[in-house]
Amino acid sequence: MAHELDIIPGTEWGFFTLPRPMCIAGPCSAETEEQVMETARGLHEFGIHVYRAGIWKPRTHPGSFEGVGTPGLRWLRKVKETYGMKVCTEVASEKHVLECLKSGVDIIWIGARTTANPFLMQEIADALSGTDIPVLVKNPVSPDLDLWVGALERLNRSGIRKLGVVHRGFSTSASIPYRNDPGWKIAIELRTRYPQMVFFADPSHMGGDRKYLQELSQRAMDLGLDGLMVESHCDPSCAWSDARQQLTPRALQNLLESLVIRDNTSDNEAYKEGIDVLRARIDVIDESLLKLLKDRMDVSRSIGRYKKEHNVAILQAVRWEQLLSDMVASAASLGISEEAVRGVMTAIHEESVRVQNQVLEA
Ligand code: PEP
Ligand code: MN
Repeated sequence: MAHELDIIPGTEWGFFTLPRPMCIAGPCSAETEEQVMETARGLHEFGIHVYRAGIWKPRTHPGSFEGVGTPGLRWLRKVKETYGMKVCTEVASEKHVLECLKSGVDIIWIGARTTANPFLMQEIADALSGTDIPVLVKNPVSPDLDLWVGALERLNRSGIRKLGVVHRGFSTSASIPYRNDPGWKIAIELRTRYPQMVFFADPSHMGGDRKYLQELSQRAMDLGLDGLMVESHCDPSCAWSDARQQLTPRALQNLLESLVIRDNTSDNEAYKEGIDVLRARIDVIDESLLKLLKDRMDVSRSIGRYKKEHNVAILQAVRWEQLLSDMVASAASLGISEEAVRGVMTAIHEESVRVQNQVLEA
């Protein structure tokens, strides 16, 4: 069930400017006053006006650089005063929230490890009650959409209406080139549920290496997301955290200029007519698919009855593996990817097993 959120769209906060991508940039961590100011200078120079820097850093291992803490907030103030930029940082506790409110931080974000923790989320939501500071919520480390939505709900119940999200990918044990699995499907689902909520992608934490930032940023734009949160450092190779994934301000400028931004929609009449025809075709095909699925489930039910009569187990692993590999082979000759066919067939098979189980238990 979709949970209602009472949200003010990001375009009305007065922080982000269109056209896309809206951009938040700055170092993973505030390290020194010089590094904070020098990075801000480079970003301000080409029009970035929302600056990020981690003050308190949630690190996997103790002993890694855990952020400069409260004194760093003074440097963010200086960025505001010197360049007129808006500043944002990560909070993970009531104390962090109070410090940020006190020192005039403009936006706060919730890190992936915190979104995953309902106790901390409630503590933060309570601390924010009665304020109207914008809050960006990163996805939780695991691909759990409800946990993400739950964090948004807690903030919203505390009266926070300037709510947005940052998609930074999910931890995975699978071997992939990126630091985190982009899991775009979940992002799209959240986007579909709350189309009015400002939606950023964080290609830096998703990719984990600057060489992937361009392709991930382009993908985020192709999916129609609103903005990018990108880590940028005046001297990336010397960064105290996430050195591999940070870009110099100049490299970020190049990246942003290289992006191809397609409109989310078009008012052009010819486009509208063309797209309507194509969508009508898709609708017809989807109806046929549904009808075919129904026929397939009817046959599954018959198979269930037959197995029941002959006292045969429902799951026939060898048969299923054979069926799947045959489908994968046929799909390849039709130009359909193995991943797609496995996904679709697995979903159909699961439903088929469920239907057969119903017959067995009847
Ligand atoms: C960060 O933005 O620096 C950070 C720690 O990100 P995440 O919570 O996405 O890991
Ligand atoms: Mn980082």
